[in-house]
Amino acid sequence: MIQEIKPRTFYNQFHEERIGKGDSIICFHNDLIYVNQEKNDLEYISYEAFCTWQEEMNGTGKPVKKGTGDNSLAEKEFHFIYLFSIDEQKYFLLREDVELSLPGFTYCKMFDVRRRAPKYQVMAASTAWHLYVWYRDNRFCGRCGQETLEDREERMLKCPHCGNMIFPKVAPAVIVGVIDGDKILMTKYAHREYKRYALIAGFNEIGETIEETVEREVMEEVGLHVKHIRYYKSQPWGFDQNLLLGFFCELDDSHKIHMDEKELALAEWVRREDIPDYKEHLSLTHEMMQLFKNGKEPL
Ligand SMILES: [Zn+2]
Repeated sequence: MIQEIKPRTFYNQFHEERIGKGDSIICFHNDLIYVNQEKNDLEYISYEAFCTWQEEMNGTGKPVKKGTGDNSLAEKEFHFIYLFSIDEQKYFLLREDVELSLPGFTYCKMFDVRRRAPKYQVMAASTAWHLYVWYRDNRFCGRCGQETLEDREERMLKCPHCGNMIFPKVAPAVIVGVIDGDKILMTKYAHREYKRYALIAGFNEIGETIEETVEREVMEEVGLHVKHIRYYKSQPWGFDQNLLLGFFCELDDSHKIHMDEKELALAEWVRREDIPDYKEHLSLTHEMMQLFKNGKEPL
């Protein structure tokens, strides 16, 4: 899975850091991420490249001299916030949502970035996206409407007026492998970019345990009762602020599917040997499908 980046180590502890030489900058604009288009390996802007660009160019690509009073991006004071480190490499987020024009760089969909290599850079993109969305959507206090400030001690936005403290949002969600003998229930989503097989999935709702989420989601999507719910593993990245928790369970009573056609385009029982291997070791869904294919699901 994407988070499995050994021998590298991901350090998510927040501390106040000033951006400097050698640091990587992750930028987003209109929900797209800014990556090097000339290299096979996924790469972000270095601080040095950013400074050079800012000195040499303005937003339209024409060279400008500093201090001319030009109100372009080249004159702008950008604000960077420390995100995390992977080994010694520090990553910063450009907080402004502006369109940049660095040579060799392009804006890319997050969905396309996830298939790129190396994996640790994909992990960086996913986690940066999670934090970017959180910073972007919490610029103002939801209690009193004042502009929030970044806390210096921890990953928190704080309202200077009413003291409201806002922490990054992590939304628990489940992926469920429903088993009936040597078959597993596989689905395909309706109205989504992702066209391959998936498993039943959905978000936890207020007031329910995660096991109840499993039962409810299976009932809502395919109208089936399940039993013997057991936890497998989690996936800490996702494009919807989620923490995915993977479960296997057994079918309880009838195996007749009543599919929710608003959510799904297909729901069917698939034998172990017929499960496709997409050879894409990125997601928990794929890992759970392969685990079942190979008869290695937790009992
Ligand atoms: Zn407030």
